[in-house]
Amino acid sequence: MSSLDDLKKHARELRERLEGQLASTPDSASLQALRDRFLGRKSGEVTALFKDLGKLASEDRKEAGEALNALKEFSEARISEAEAHFERRQRESRLSSERIDVSLPGRARASGSKHPLTLIREEVEDVFIGLGFDIFDGPEVDDDFHCFEALNMPADHPARDMQDTFYLEGQPPRLLRTHTSTGQIRSMLANENPPGVRVLCPGRTFRRDDDITHSPMFHQFEGLVVDRGITLGDLMGTLEAFIHAVFGKEYPVRFRPSYFPYTEPSVEVDMGCSACKGRKTGCRVCKQTGWLEILGSGMVHPAVFESVNARLGEVVYDPAEVSGFAFGSGMERIAMIKYGISDIRLFYESDIRFLEQFS
Ligand SMILES: [Zn+2]
Repeated sequence: MSSLDDLKKHARELRERLEGQLASTPDSASLQALRDRFLGRKSGEVTALFKDLGKLASEDRKEAGEALNALKEFSEARISEAEAHFERRQRESRLSSERIDVSLPGRARASGSKHPLTLIREEVEDVFIGLGFDIFDGPEVDDDFHCFEALNMPADHPARDMQDTFYLEGQPPRLLRTHTSTGQIRSMLANENPPGVRVLCPGRTFRRDDDITHSPMFHQFEGLVVDRGITLGDLMGTLEAFIHAVFGKEYPVRFRPSYFPYTEPSVEVDMGCSACKGRKTGCRVCKQTGWLEILGSGMVHPAVFESVNARLGEVVYDPAEVSGFAFGSGMERIAMIKYGISDIRLFYESDIRFLEQFS
């Protein structure tokens, strides 16, 4: 037979044990185990004490019941308190780990920018449009007639060796154009108001070259002016205006005799070296000459007019009446000189560190 005193003593012990264990409970999982141990419906120690009530003398039951209820309420309150403490701690640690540090730099999405060759192409086009030229676009896959034959380079012409290219399988024979000079022939053939022509043909070209200054794919621009009374003076004035517009008026321009199969006379156009500012002793960039080669040009060869006339089946460009000048250069060459780039391969490697310098 249990006594009231035993039960009250047992209740006090339980209360002290609960306090002690609560103090050393590390987390909410252990707290849940503690709750089961004390207040579990089936085997909780506080719950078990209630079962002893029936064993007491009837006059003691009221007092014992009040004591047990007090113990139960106390236990529930202390456990809930501990639970709230753990929840609060968990929330705080989550908040501190997810806190936004406003001092960090933002994650901006980088926007693309124009490739240096695109910038140069647009600039070259703008200059010639300003001089009254139209932009003429031709195919990259062309044939022998437009690429060589009509440009006064028949099948056995040695100049073809310098323009070894890629040939496509199938008939009729086709090739990747080696220069934008194909635009000269195509623009004259397509001309709706002959004999006047004033076109700039920019575009991709191809050759079997691959080194620090040559790429199997590169970009050229070709210009052609044809009309009655066009002279070498027009050529010189136009190309000097172009160089001054792109590089600046401070650079001297000079013309040297040269040779191209499709122009006669032919002239090479140089400008003062932009690296050493045309110093007499020169520098590495200009190979100690003080000059940089910028364009090839010349007066359209009568044989070129005759090839076009033959294809048209009538004399539209009579060499006795019309004349013209043509010129060409590489976009890469212009860009390398203008931006001081020494390796042509940088244009094609898609290296952001290189490209973002032009954005
Ligand atoms: Zn130089």
